[in-house]
Amino acid sequence: MAKTLYVIVPCYNEEEVLKETSKCLKQKCEKLIKDKKITKKSKIMFVDDGSSDETWNMIMNLCSEDSLFAGVKLSKNRGQQNALLAGLMTAKEKADITISMDADLQDDINVIDEMLEKNEMGYEIVYGVRSSRQKDTFFKRFTAKTFYRLLEFLGVDIVYNHADCRLMSKKALEALANYQEVNLFLRGLVPLIGYKSTICYYERHERFAGKSKYPLKKMFSFAVDGITSFSIKPLQMIMALGIIILLVSIIIMIYSLIVKVMGMVVPGWTFLTISIWFLGGLQMVSIGIIGEYVGKIYYETKKRPRYIIEEVIDE
Ligand code: UDP
Ligand code: MG
Repeated sequence: MAKTLYVIVPCYNEEEVLKETSKCLKQKCEKLIKDKKITKKSKIMFVDDGSSDETWNMIMNLCSEDSLFAGVKLSKNRGQQNALLAGLMTAKEKADITISMDADLQDDINVIDEMLEKNEMGYEIVYGVRSSRQKDTFFKRFTAKTFYRLLEFLGVDIVYNHADCRLMSKKALEALANYQEVNLFLRGLVPLIGYKSTICYYERHERFAGKSKYPLKKMFSFAVDGITSFSIKPLQMIMALGIIILLVSIIIMIYSLIVKVMGMVVPGWTFLTISIWFLGGLQMVSIGIIGEYVGKIYYETKKRPRYIIEEVIDE
């Protein structure tokens, strides 16, 4: 049976691309409706993330011209992740499935067909993965790669080269609604939900028009958010470092005593050297212990659901 699809598109000052994006998405959805792959109640939902240009007016016009379009307006710019979540949570009430996409047509919209097929096969979450990033600048590719590798190293469960183009079923969205955290990093959060999931590959294009809304500063703070919202490893590394320094201090101790016995030092050198290394290590271990507790507090304050039940059989 056909399902109701909501395509969620966060937009921040996207007046230059909105016309083309809405046209392409409209064509795609109308075809899907005609082929009875999705219901007539399906919609393309634009979320205006507090834009200062004509974006919202354009969205309002689209909505008045065609009931295929829907709009959500945030009161101010809250960032792509929050805009996306706002769209998803609004759509959850009416949609059976949602697909999120950027407004700049960088994600190939033909991936929608494959995502729908995968959903038919029973997958609750389908991650869109960029098969190549040749169209991105070297800098963007390099920073992105480093970021994904670093997250992997820190033990964050993340899908490599997956941005925010993904299909989520109503069931997955309802689970996502249980996560109350404020520092939102959906790429890290969605894999925590579990459920049957898979990936779909697509080519990443160049931005259709306009400039990237992720300047270096925003990209950096997004990366820091991604790491610090999902890993307490940096805190635990302080402890490891402290232990290493304590071990080194033993070697230094032996070394400085030998040098002292051999009479090759000025008075006080041995005492100072040993003190510096030993105290340094001790302090770092102490910070590490505090870090362990801070890490626990961090997880508690997130109030993440401890589990999500997929099914209950009780007869
Ligand atoms: N975006 C948003 N709020 C922001 C920044 C970006 O809603 O504060 C949207 C933007 O309109 C676009 C998507 O997030 O639809 C991705 O942004 P962009 O294409 O500029 O990022 P890039 O592809 O360069 O990483
Ligand atoms: Mg983009």
